[in-house]
Amino acid sequence: GPLLVPLFGDQLTPDIAALRAVRPDDAILLMMEVADETTYVKHHKAKIAFILSAMRHHAGRLRDLGWRFDYVRLDDPDNEGSFTAEVARAVERRKPRAIHVTEAGEWRVRAMLESWRDRFAIPVTIHEDDRFLCSHAEFDSWASARKQLRMEYFYRDMRRKTGLLMADDGKPEGGQWNYDADNRRPAPSRDLLTPRPVRFLPDAITSDVLALVAERFADHIGSLDHFHFAATHEEAMRQQQRFLDEALPRFGDYQDAMLTGEPFLWHSVLSPYINVGLLDPLDLCRKVEERYLAGRAPLNCAEGFIRQIIGWREYVRGIYWHEGPDYARRNALDARRDLPGFYWTGMTDLHCLSQAIGQTIDHGYAHHIQRLMITGNFALLAGVDPYQVHIWYLEVYADAFEWVELPNTLGMSQFADGGLLGSKPYAASGAYIDRMSDYCGKCRYDVRQRTGENACPFNSLYWDFLARNQKTLAPNPRLAMPYRNWERMEPKERQAIRRQAANFLDNLG
Ligand code: FAD
Ligand code: SF4
Repeated sequence: GPLLVPLFGDQLTPDIAALRAVRPDDAILLMMEVADETTYVKHHKAKIAFILSAMRHHAGRLRDLGWRFDYVRLDDPDNEGSFTAEVARAVERRKPRAIHVTEAGEWRVRAMLESWRDRFAIPVTIHEDDRFLCSHAEFDSWASARKQLRMEYFYRDMRRKTGLLMADDGKPEGGQWNYDADNRRPAPSRDLLTPRPVRFLPDAITSDVLALVAERFADHIGSLDHFHFAATHEEAMRQQQRFLDEALPRFGDYQDAMLTGEPFLWHSVLSPYINVGLLDPLDLCRKVEERYLAGRAPLNCAEGFIRQIIGWREYVRGIYWHEGPDYARRNALDARRDLPGFYWTGMTDLHCLSQAIGQTIDHGYAHHIQRLMITGNFALLAGVDPYQVHIWYLEVYADAFEWVELPNTLGMSQFADGGLLGSKPYAASGAYIDRMSDYCGKCRYDVRQRTGENACPFNSLYWDFLARNQKTLAPNPRLAMPYRNWERMEPKERQAIRRQAANFLDNLG
């Protein structure tokens, strides 16, 4: 028989490792749209539509390249609904002599692939996914040599390894590794120069998928009305070009800024394409470097962008696999509250939250600071169960795959790993949000007040969070200053703040 090559929905590149190991005349590729994967958590409608459409387009591209295919559609009557059951059917049908597959992007599916070895009486080769710069072995050896796993040092190694933004003498371009200090500007007011991502009109394949998703996943979060995703490599390259031309030159400056009614600002909006394989992250970084060298993008913007990809993205993946499958259950601050219902509707009078959640429902997108400092910060301050927070992020963002979502959510944003990823919790009061956005001016609450009917809830929640977690967090030297400020307040004031927070939390529902 031939070789059987199952391909997953986040392996949409002709260069994927398992394909490089076989030849078109000797292999049958298998792509599967299975119910389990669309419902094990209730993904955003636009996320499901994006992935299914990208898969169908990718199958066409591979067919054009001469590959033979079994493509199992979600609405095929014989569809068994899971990867393992569909591979079993293909083994029956095609009588392959062996299976070649590229490793999965999460523990759950990894275990599935490993079970195939026992289940099918043919050899199963699991190829390492070499779309990443840093292999599992490399990360493990980096991590085991250190007490603290700081992204900054990992990132420097990746700069040296790729040569990106390195001067000839082995020093970083411009003399510094990191120009983040230049990247904290609040957004300017809205104007015609605010860049906008390309919106791709659905073709026949995407239209079919949109209809299927609207019918089958009506009870999932999200809207399809604003569906704008690229579905092919060519379209994703157009979005990449748009980013390089229009947004990169100010990417760094406004990376942390937030504006009412502007979901995208100077962000690339490329993560879904990078994560499923439609774009190559290293190639993108080289193009960003070229823009800098040609004088078309300043160093703080080029460096900031490259750091997100070869630094943060690679680093969180390393952490995910290094920490093991139980990482998802950590809860260092013992947070137990249920995630408030408005995370699924956006219906709240906290304007910053309604903006971040509203655009998430509309687009399956929010940028980093919205995820970290609005929805993430609120859940952290309110003491929401980090596992529930993790499931929400995994469901609602089009770019969410567990290897990248989990460490960002549970580690960076909820501090549930006790400080593996971040040296202190990303907890902030309303003042931070006011500084970085125009939200507070449009809100029914007053960001300068801590107590009283109109006080911004982030303020009392912030102090309440510190007070509640004093035993665990006060020894952290990076929190010495806020704890000193807390201790300096009159006892009456502290009491009033905690009562204000308790009242608000009681009414969260
Ligand atoms: P840009 O701002 O244009 O950044 C460029 C690229 O850098 C991104 O496309 C992405 O590939 C990479 N990147 C930036 N920051 C990170 C990071 N912290 N970790 C990994 N890659 C990064 N990113 C995901 O891809 N999937 C997720 O499920 C995800 N969940 C997150 C959950 C939380 C709570 C937080 C705080 C962050 C999460 N991120 C996730 C990281 C980041 O927010 C998104 O990558 C980014 O917002 C995607 O939008 P963009 O392409 O416009 O990014
Ligand atoms: Fe958010 Fe508070 Fe500002 Fe309102 S006042 S937008 S709740 S930070």
